[in-house]
Amino acid sequence: MAKLTPGEKSAPKHPHYLHANPSALPSSLIDHFDGFAITTDRHGRIVFANRAAIRLSGLSQSEIMGRSLDILFDLTAEQQTSIGQCLGQKKTLIFETTARSKTSATRMVQLNVSALDSAAADSGLAVFAVDVSGLKRTIQEQTQLVTAVEHAAESIIVTDPAGVIEYVNPAFEKITGYSRHEVIGGNIELLDSGQHSKAFFSTIIDTLQRGEIWQGRMVNKRRDHSLYETEATVSPIKNKTGSITNYVSVQRDVSHEVRLERQLRQAQKMEAIGTLAGGIAHDFNNLLMGIQGNISLSLLDIEPNSSLVKNLKKIEQYVQNGVDLTKQLLGFARGGKYEISLLYLNELIKEQNLMFSRTNKDILFKNEAKPNLWSVEADRGQIEQVLLNLYLNALQAMPGGGTLTTRTGNVTIDKDQYSPYYVKAGSYIKITIADTGVGMDEDIQQRIFDPFFTTKEMGRGTGLGLASVYGIVKNHEGFIKVFSKKGQGTKFEIYLPASGKAVPTPKKASEKFVEGQETVLLVDDEDMIIDVGTRMLRKLGYQVFTARDGKEAITIFKKHQDKIDLIVLDMIMPQMGGGETFDRIKKIKPDVKVLLSSGFSINGQASEILNRGCNSFIQKPFNLQKLSQNIRAILEAE
Ligand code: ADP
Ligand code: MG
Repeated sequence: MAKLTPGEKSAPKHPHYLHANPSALPSSLIDHFDGFAITTDRHGRIVFANRAAIRLSGLSQSEIMGRSLDILFDLTAEQQTSIGQCLGQKKTLIFETTARSKTSATRMVQLNVSALDSAAADSGLAVFAVDVSGLKRTIQEQTQLVTAVEHAAESIIVTDPAGVIEYVNPAFEKITGYSRHEVIGGNIELLDSGQHSKAFFSTIIDTLQRGEIWQGRMVNKRRDHSLYETEATVSPIKNKTGSITNYVSVQRDVSHEVRLERQLRQAQKMEAIGTLAGGIAHDFNNLLMGIQGNISLSLLDIEPNSSLVKNLKKIEQYVQNGVDLTKQLLGFARGGKYEISLLYLNELIKEQNLMFSRTNKDILFKNEAKPNLWSVEADRGQIEQVLLNLYLNALQAMPGGGTLTTRTGNVTIDKDQYSPYYVKAGSYIKITIADTGVGMDEDIQQRIFDPFFTTKEMGRGTGLGLASVYGIVKNHEGFIKVFSKKGQGTKFEIYLPASGKAVPTPKKASEKFVEGQETVLLVDDEDMIIDVGTRMLRKLGYQVFTARDGKEAITIFKKHQDKIDLIVLDMIMPQMGGGETFDRIKKIKPDVKVLLSSGFSINGQASEILNRGCNSFIQKPFNLQKLSQNIRAILEAE
């Protein structure tokens, strides 16, 4: 209220004057007040309302005069009582309510009610009301904003232009492991993982200083020094004059996505390499077949005590090494599984433990095999290869000794899983191989399945071990999990689809080769194989027809089908492969006897052809014994 100077003639001596003549309130104050200014008499009846009150309520002067306050405001009975209690009291009542309006939307107002003269019992009331809708809205918006920021999954960091942290949200605390009070006042550099160059950070700073937004991926460091990858957006905040007052950084943890991307890339890479490896293995096997066959034949022709025998045996040994190498390659060749049989893996692991424990006295071999393990349909040689590679790695990881634990168990997966890779629902057996060795950090774990990735010194590691483990397991429709921490050992889990079938007891193969006099049609697109194969078959006593492709095979077979007792059929040939040739010949003579021969099969082709009635399968390279036994087994089975 304006202070009245003593010299003013018309100046009232007592505020009571206001009650007597309310319109005499300083008009400038009342007129410029953009809210309700009202006075009442001692009964609470309105005796004055300013222009704003008229405008805001949409009522006329005459409609308001003499009415109680509730014509202008929503008042509860309780509020009305409280207002009444202000009469003649030295007390101010402040509360919020809505102002009624005939013409516009209701608005939130803050009412301020007091007696015009607290000393006089017959004094009326002075009522002021200001619109607080805007303020309310602002507060509500700000509350929502704060709630959003505090509940966001992204970590949000506000810094000053020098990078000093002024605010972080709970997501930041959760992701980084820092609490607010640890980082506020500290520099943003505490997140620096050391993974980015100086230039990387200068680019960010330059962008921001130009007033632009920076967006990109970066690797940050948590409180425990572990790293995580984020997708960050950093924006400058400017004040009215255009100078930058703050930076706000919104960061989404994308470690999970990055891992998935890497796995996908890995899968694609393996696919490509698998194709390549398959091709190489195929050609290489044929080469080995040529060498092996010629050795076999030479060994027959020379004196048993000739010094050449030793040399030839040595070459045979090298061929075997070559075969082992192609087996590694075939492991990650696409679809490169060939000799499928029913296996109980507990037996296999027991044998392997026995073998390794003989030569590794400083390692404790613990076998926690579960009895009644389901059987699997798998290539025995390849599964042995998987175990061998994993054992070798484990042993190499424990140079000072340690414990190698193997565990098996039956596992049922009820639902198809898609993360991090596709796993079909079903029954699996799980093999765990755990060591107490040197372990691996996250970076190495990302790459262990890459062909040729090795951390071992020259000559010790080829980097093919786990690549072939991966390929073999994948070809068997299984999957692998790795758990490791640097210095804390490593655990591999191999899952293979279980089979409900019971395993038959295996027949022991004999060392002898058996001769025969029947006629054999040898089909192969490789001259070398035709050459050595023909000589081997003749050596065994057979009559031999040869064909260089499927078409020729059919022609010859049509012509001599009464003579031909058996076909040795190559599976992979250009134009017409073994599968199609087999199907056509089978149409000509349904009970034809066929021995399928291949270095490997693409997409399980070999087993498909076997399922279509092909008698048996022989893997290249084969020696005389193997060939003769296979042929006799087919010809003598009736
Ligand atoms: P190599 O053994 O020839 O190096 P692998 O493919 O078998 O190739 O393994 C690749 C790399 O994975 C190894 O060089 C090693 O760094 C890591 N690795 C594999 N198995 C283990 C293990 N059990 N413990 C620690 N590191 C391992
Ligand atoms: Mg290895």
